[in-house]
Amino acid sequence: MAPLRELIEYLESWAPPSWAMEYDNVGLQLGDPDQGVHRVLVALDLTEEVVAEAEAWSADLILTHHPPLFHPLRRCTSQEPLGRMLMRLVRSGRAVYSAHTNLDVAPGGVNDALAARLGLQNVRVLDPLPNMLRKLVVFVPVTHVDLLRRAMADAGAGRIGAYEECAFEVRGTGLFRPLQEARPHLGEVGRLGRVEEVRLEMQVPAWRLGAVLQALRAAHPYEEPVWDVYPLEKPVAEAGMGRIGELPHPMPADAFLAYVVERLHVQALRYGVGPQERIHRVAVCGGSGSSLWTVAARQGADALITADVRYHTFQEASAALWLLDAGHYETEVPVLEVLAERLRRAFPKLACRVARAENPVLYISRERVG
Ligand SMILES: [Zn+2]
Repeated sequence: MAPLRELIEYLESWAPPSWAMEYDNVGLQLGDPDQGVHRVLVALDLTEEVVAEAEAWSADLILTHHPPLFHPLRRCTSQEPLGRMLMRLVRSGRAVYSAHTNLDVAPGGVNDALAARLGLQNVRVLDPLPNMLRKLVVFVPVTHVDLLRRAMADAGAGRIGAYEECAFEVRGTGLFRPLQEARPHLGEVGRLGRVEEVRLEMQVPAWRLGAVLQALRAAHPYEEPVWDVYPLEKPVAEAGMGRIGELPHPMPADAFLAYVVERLHVQALRYGVGPQERIHRVAVCGGSGSSLWTVAARQGADALITADVRYHTFQEASAALWLLDAGHYETEVPVLEVLAERLRRAFPKLACRVARAENPVLYISRERVG
C-alpha cells in the first residue's frame, strides 16, 4: 500500500504539471490524496471498459494519459457517460489521475517510449520547452556558502547536463543596519554592519524553484536572506515536445514504412511521400503532433511519425519530408508499460498493470469489403 499523495509526488517529480500545455487539465481528477493505493490500472483513456476492469481487479487508482475532466463539467448525473463513470468511481472510492502533455514532454515519457519502440538511436528532444529555467542569486556569509550551495543542489539547483552543483561565487561586502525588532545573526541593533559575503549563483528549473527556496531558507543563517530570481531565455534541453534520432541504419523508403508498421503494430498507415529516397533521421511525436513537421525538417529529419494528420498538412510537408500518420493510439500506447514499470520500481509493494482497453479506431480494407 502507498498513500496516493506519495504516488502523486513521485509522478509530478517526473512529469511536473507546470510542463503541461496551457489548455490542458492534468493532475488528480478525482479522489482524496490521503487515500491508500494498492493497485493501479494504467490506460490511455477513462472508458466504461476501463472502469469495469478497475472494479473487477480492485484497482484503487486509474492512471490515464488523457484527462477525463477536460471540458468544463456542467453536471455529473447518471444521464451522461462521463457522469455515470464518475459516480461509479466516487461510490467505490477509486481515484483518477492524469498525466497528459506533461508526460509527452517528460524525459522517459510518451515520446521517449515511442522513440524506443522504433529503435531510434542518439535520441534528442525535438522542440525543447522554453521559459522553464531560472537563475537564482543569493548573498551568504562566506562561513555558510558551502553548506548553502550543497543544500540548494540537493533540492535541484545547479544541475546542467551531466554536471551537478554548478555554481558561480564572487566575494563582496554586504551592508545592513538591524532595527529594534530584529534578531540579527551578525551585527548589533542600530549599527550599520559590514559582512564579507559571497554572491552565489545557480541555475534552477522553474519546477524545482519552490523546493530550492525552501532549502535556501532552511540553510541560510540570516533572519532575512536576500535572494533574486531571474528568468532565463535558454530552453530546457532534456524536456520538450517530440524526439529526433536515427534509425539503426538508413533504409529505403518502402522498407522504412514496413518497419514502422511492424514496430508499432499499425493496422493501416496513412502517409505523405517526401523527397528523400532513403530514411535515416526520424522525428516522432505521439498523438497529434503534425504541426512539428517544420521543426523536424529544420533539424534534418527525413520523416516525422505522428498522428491525426490533416489532408493539407500532408500536402504542405511533402516538399520537406515523409509524414506518417501511424495512429493516435498506436503512437501513445508504448508509454503505458513504461508508466506501469516505473511505478512498480518506485513502489515495490504496489500492483500495477496496463488496462486491456483496445484501440477505439478500427480499419477495414477494400479487399475485405470485396
Ligand atoms: Zn493523445
